[in-house]
Amino acid sequence: MKKAFEKYRLEPDQKVQLNDWDTLETSAWDGGKKDAKLHLLELNTQLEKLQELLYAERKQRILIVLQAMDTGGKDGVIRSVFKGVNPSGVRVASFKVPSALELDHDYLWRIHKQAPAKGEIVIFNRSHYEDVLVVRVHELVSEKVWKKRFDHINAFEKMLHDEGTVILKFFLHISKEEQKIRLQERIDNPEKQWKFSSGDLKERGLWDKYRDAYEDVLEKTSTKSAPWYIVPADRNWYRNLIISTVIIETLESLNMKYPAAEAGIEKVVID
Ligand code: ADP
Repeated sequence: MKKAFEKYRLEPDQKVQLNDWDTLETSAWDGGKKDAKLHLLELNTQLEKLQELLYAERKQRILIVLQAMDTGGKDGVIRSVFKGVNPSGVRVASFKVPSALELDHDYLWRIHKQAPAKGEIVIFNRSHYEDVLVVRVHELVSEKVWKKRFDHINAFEKMLHDEGTVILKFFLHISKEEQKIRLQERIDNPEKQWKFSSGDLKERGLWDKYRDAYEDVLEKTSTKSAPWYIVPADRNWYRNLIISTVIIETLESLNMKYPAAEAGIEKVVID
């Protein structure tokens, strides 16, 4: 799983045809699913330690953006990749249909408020990218308005980066066939029925429009300071391995250190 990120990370301005990106491939992993699940447990422990260091050092801010078609597995990533991590230093911000108050502001207002503080990891479950995805597909604003947003978003993320936020963006790439299986599973399994809404079928009918919108997002907003990764996501275990590995390798590259202890601590004896 070494250097997994290089393969899936998009270079700035790289052209993207999502149909050319295999959703099923598992080429960065030599073993099978069982080994992968065991390896993920080791990665969970590594992430737990790195997150503790991040929290203790209180210098870096980490922002992880998750975007996907419906059933793409955002919730699964949050559950599996962050298993065991101390909840004090990790927060999930989920972005739903904006409230009336949010709509009264610019679209980045609610986003910026949720950006990570020093020592914190924040996971965006959906994000400002909805404002060039669902908003575009459903024509909630005019083309003239959403087209300008790619520049705003790049400038906003550059500002966060320049001010010390590390940004990783993952597009969980599933096939339309896999979405069919997952939606059917939601209908058939009484414990998953709560996740299904008939609106999901309407969105599925707009698959090609969403794919085109995603291709634009990926081409226009993968930057050196806030890269996109296209993660093959039909197999949950592989998706989890890639994302976990990328996050760990990124945290390792930050050369974090525990803060210095108080002078003379070695002489202190508790009685
Ligand atoms: P999820 O699918 O992420 O698990 P929900 O089922 O509650 O969560 O869906 C959230 C909905 O909010 C999605 O349909 C998404 O497209 C919508 N949404 C998010 N951001 C916006 C936005 N800025 N404008 C319009 N709709 C949005």
